[in-house]
Amino acid sequence: MNNTGLLVVFSGPSGVGKDTVLQRLLQRCPQVRLSVSATTRSPRAGEEDGKDYFFLDHEVFEEQIRQGKMLEYAEYCGNYYGTPSVPVETWMSQGNDVILEIEVQGGAQVQQKRKDCVSIFLLPPSMKVLENRLRGRGTEAEETIQKRMKAAREEVGKAFQYDYAVVNDDLEETVTTIIQILESEKFRVSRNKDFLERMLEIC
Ligand code: 5GP
Repeated sequence: MNNTGLLVVFSGPSGVGKDTVLQRLLQRCPQVRLSVSATTRSPRAGEEDGKDYFFLDHEVFEEQIRQGKMLEYAEYCGNYYGTPSVPVETWMSQGNDVILEIEVQGGAQVQQKRKDCVSIFLLPPSMKVLENRLRGRGTEAEETIQKRMKAAREEVGKAFQYDYAVVNDDLEETVTTIIQILESEKFRVSRNKDFLERMLEIC
């Protein structure tokens, strides 16, 4: 069957628990790689350059866009965020599934450019639960929380454009569901045409 890894767009509003879900997914699935994005926003406490994000100046980010080095990019809450192309392509060609944890504008760009991608939208059990989680994080000012809740309402409306919508209530169940989605996707006929054609040539 096809040995190329999957390209997975993974989106959801800020505070929905994307990072926790992905960290657990990485523990359970050694073949999965998480793309490290570039951003112009400042690091939060505990975040490391090159691990959580590549923290870039505005000018450097714009230069990388001009040079075509971003698979996608978007402006979100006043900052640039983008996916460097090279590591994604390398990992996929080595058979690793690559997850892009990106917001919806970037998600739409990848879906447009790469028709073979799998897109998953992570939902909170409710918008109220989301607001409580954002406040509980304690890392954001009130103005930022309001901005992020407004963005979250708009983002959840974009879930209709994704292939899958998964509600993040119980962590292990959420991760199991995502693993099942990825496993099923690998058996799509459209991903395995070469294999089928080779089989027919042999007989
Ligand atoms: P945060 O500032 O909370 O780390 O991220 C804010 C938003 O930016 C999140 O929705 C996150 O998924 C999104 N994001 C992170 N990296 C990228 C990226 O490379 N491209 C795009 N389009 N969005 C990203």
